[in-house]
Amino acid sequence: MDILSIIEHKRDKKILSQDEIEYFINEYTINHTITDYQAAALLMAIYLNGLNDKETYYLTNAMINSGTTMNLSNVKGIKIDKHSTGGVGDKVSLILTPICVALGIKVAKISGSGLGHTGGTLDKLESINVHTNISKDKALELLKKQGMFIMSQTEDICIADKYLYALRNSTATVSCLPLIAASVLCKKLVLKTDVVFIDLKVGSGAFCKTINEAKKLAKIMKNLFKQFKRKGVIHITNMTQPLGTCIGNAIEAKAAIDFLDGKFENQAIKNLIYQFAIDICLSTKIVKNKQEAIKKIDKVINDKIALNIFKSWAVSQGSNMKLLNSNFFHPKYRLNIKSLKKGYIKYISTKEIGMISFFLGAGRLKKEDSIDYQAGIKLNKTINDYVKKGDILATLYSSKPIDKSLVKRFNDNVVFSNNKHHQLKEIIGVIK
Ligand code: URA
Repeated sequence: MDILSIIEHKRDKKILSQDEIEYFINEYTINHTITDYQAAALLMAIYLNGLNDKETYYLTNAMINSGTTMNLSNVKGIKIDKHSTGGVGDKVSLILTPICVALGIKVAKISGSGLGHTGGTLDKLESINVHTNISKDKALELLKKQGMFIMSQTEDICIADKYLYALRNSTATVSCLPLIAASVLCKKLVLKTDVVFIDLKVGSGAFCKTINEAKKLAKIMKNLFKQFKRKGVIHITNMTQPLGTCIGNAIEAKAAIDFLDGKFENQAIKNLIYQFAIDICLSTKIVKNKQEAIKKIDKVINDKIALNIFKSWAVSQGSNMKLLNSNFFHPKYRLNIKSLKKGYIKYISTKEIGMISFFLGAGRLKKEDSIDYQAGIKLNKTINDYVKKGDILATLYSSKPIDKSLVKRFNDNVVFSNNKHHQLKEIIGVIK
């Protein structure tokens, strides 16, 4: 077997065999006999000519086998994983994970850091001193004792994904649906949980910009779950506006703790979390119906059970109670943004809000960049709120003096209307 003929096959729209795909993954990412330019040529051929369901399965399998796995079989009980494809203001994992644990479902979660305009769960956790760079042994111990862990990807899990993702990033081949599906799911299927929940975000703040694109990606993912004989539930969710009202790291960690304390940012995020939690209860069969699920979810929030689980778990991963109970969101600089007009508002681009948060210091461009945990945005007004001229739309926060040009960027991203704007539901579709 040789890489030239594999590239030729895909260039000529042929279907690659399992052997060819395994050869490529092993020789490029493990033995390093295939060069970057050869791998780049194959990725571009795949980008242009696609992969069918079988090829995508072989690729995902080879990526899983490029590294080690984590054996969860010694941990008793129902185990799930929940993954979001990323958005702006997306603190769902921080809230949903302890709720699941409180409901009696264990959560094993390997997470990523944020890049560009999307914030990452790991950064939000690091802002409250939760250390996510933990060993697999420690993660297993936490899963048994705390019912959950959230850790960063280790060097030895899905090794191929690191090489392929870096190469895709520098060869304009990221936005290829089978490659995205393989990259996302290899890191989920490597953990043998009972059900994997994928939150596939769609809209200007997500990497799937249209519902059609998200549906196509969900279909590829669904086929992968089927071929791996694993249970997966994919929620296609709305990222056409930021989620909730808080965007950043410490500010989102605070919003998550407040949610678990019964103080919800807004109705949209409450609806989304409840809908997710209901579907998790039904898919894992811990309840008989929706009403029973809602009753249980209400109880774990009202009785602060999920809140205490979150705090106890956070401490076991390096944080401390004093910090968690304090006002850890205390930015040095703040700047209010006043409305220039009146009307029902809507944000034109969610990505632009993510970029403003990024320029305030909350995000990073490269993995090595450091971030300002105190930087972020509080939206005082969200879609279809009626505002008067001079009302405060939002507050910008940072540890450094705030660049005034961000005020214009924010204002340029707001539309005003005499009528309410069309608004998508929080959950656009569920694929089981
Ligand atoms: N997230 C991933 O892990 N991989 C992709 O390809 C895209 C988003």
